[in-house]
Amino acid sequence: MNEMFCFQCQQTAHNTGCEGKIGVCGKKADTANYQDELVGALIGLAKTAEHGNPTDRTDELMLKGLFTTITNVNFNNETIKKLKTEIEQEKGRINSERFEDYDMKKLWDEHQDVRSLKSLILFGIKGMAAYAYHAFILGKTDKEVNEFFYKALRAIADESDPDVLLSLVLETGRVNLKCMEMLDAANTDAFGDPVPTEVPLTIEKGPFIVVSGHDLHDMKLLLEQTKDKGINIYTHSEMLPAHGYPELKKYPHLKGNFGTGWQNQQSEFHNIPAPILFTTNCIMPVRQSYSDRVFTTSIVSYPEMVHIGDDKDFSPVIKKAIECGGYDEDRHMTGMNGGSTVTTGFAHNAVLSNAAKIVELVKNGKIKHFFLIGGCDGAAPSRSYYTDFAKLTPPDTIILTLACGKYRLNDLDLGSIDGIPRILDCGQCNDAYSAIKIAAALTEAFGCGVNDLPLTLVLSWYEQKAVCILLSLLHLGIKNIYLGPTIPAFVSPNVLKALVDSYQITPTSTPEDDLRNILGK
Ligand code: SF4
Repeated sequence: MNEMFCFQCQQTAHNTGCEGKIGVCGKKADTANYQDELVGALIGLAKTAEHGNPTDRTDELMLKGLFTTITNVNFNNETIKKLKTEIEQEKGRINSERFEDYDMKKLWDEHQDVRSLKSLILFGIKGMAAYAYHAFILGKTDKEVNEFFYKALRAIADESDPDVLLSLVLETGRVNLKCMEMLDAANTDAFGDPVPTEVPLTIEKGPFIVVSGHDLHDMKLLLEQTKDKGINIYTHSEMLPAHGYPELKKYPHLKGNFGTGWQNQQSEFHNIPAPILFTTNCIMPVRQSYSDRVFTTSIVSYPEMVHIGDDKDFSPVIKKAIECGGYDEDRHMTGMNGGSTVTTGFAHNAVLSNAAKIVELVKNGKIKHFFLIGGCDGAAPSRSYYTDFAKLTPPDTIILTLACGKYRLNDLDLGSIDGIPRILDCGQCNDAYSAIKIAAALTEAFGCGVNDLPLTLVLSWYEQKAVCILLSLLHLGIKNIYLGPTIPAFVSPNVLKALVDSYQITPTSTPEDDLRNILGK
């Protein structure tokens, strides 16, 4: 008998599922099972809410519960069990009628096509919950977005018609687009519109703190609490785009970026003379050489690591930074390709302020094609595909990038076209919304449909946020997406065929062949 079952991320064992004592990500079987119970309780909550009186608190628990089960977010049985207890209590509060929790084994044992469609919905709403939670923290919520979580979870328990499920898959994409728009508004209202910003990869001598994850609100609070304390702050992985936001970049001690993609953290954090604060995924199993320096906050939790609670008092992190002292001399670090700086901040506002120039460059033949190369990074060696692809793109093409997949290429010097850099970093994964806005502006300028643009999406996926983004792209009718490094284990052959037939999704092959196909050369 299997000790656990999980196949929600790209690195799942044998590209079929993690089933033993521990998943490839380091999640132990008991934790995986507690997470399944948590999702089962959320389905119970969704049913209870249907004829009950859910409140804002119910919505918050829904978001927290789903976010908790995203890959590399929570490895702590105690916090998962505590959250489940809160959900059970909430059920009693919103409805006197009792609805049982759902047994997730039923889902894992479904017919593979039904299981596949339901997994697309479930993993999609997990990713969407993370975005909705970030927006919620910044004071923005949306009724339709919130209600969809309940509707989708009820369908996972009760719906078995593949056609209905397929339409719910696309509805997940539609609602997630709205959710990303909400988060974009929340971020830009709070921190301003990102501006292009060059970010050093050198770590200056002296005390510092590394901040990982996506939560810009936590970053702002930490910057405020470390003001004038002689402590420098460095972004890590998905936090890099923080440098582009005016309300964050105004702090002079926000100095640069530490390291590369999340998957390299165990070697990059080895003996680091500074604390690391994880605000969201991706936290990996913590190694001893830096285990006394890891702090978590928000939804992230890891056994025995110090957790900063809702009061957001970062004093323990600050104390640790002073205690560790940082490097004695400036430490010159590089990106994955040896570059010493990277540039971020090309969100929709920054790119669209150059729209007229970009359109002109396309019209006079100086820009022949746009690529969106990005998504989540991971450890698979085959992910070098994305670096090789970027290097092979002709000099008359522009690369939009986003999410942590950007680290495969963001330190490459690919030059510029009439002052427009050839690599434009739109931001975090949720800033796929920016890329979509840019594509929409191009369709307007050229008077054509999105599939007629000289634009190709070459995406990498790892965890569940990539799933909801992919569904949003499909909802928009975007075709010919190249997807790698592997097709998700939870997409059954029949569901894959349906997606290929309708959207011509293409598994990545070699950069040379794919480029030849795309450019027709
Ligand atoms: Fe396996 Fe990914 Fe699940 Fe971890 S999150 S147990 S690696 S499928």
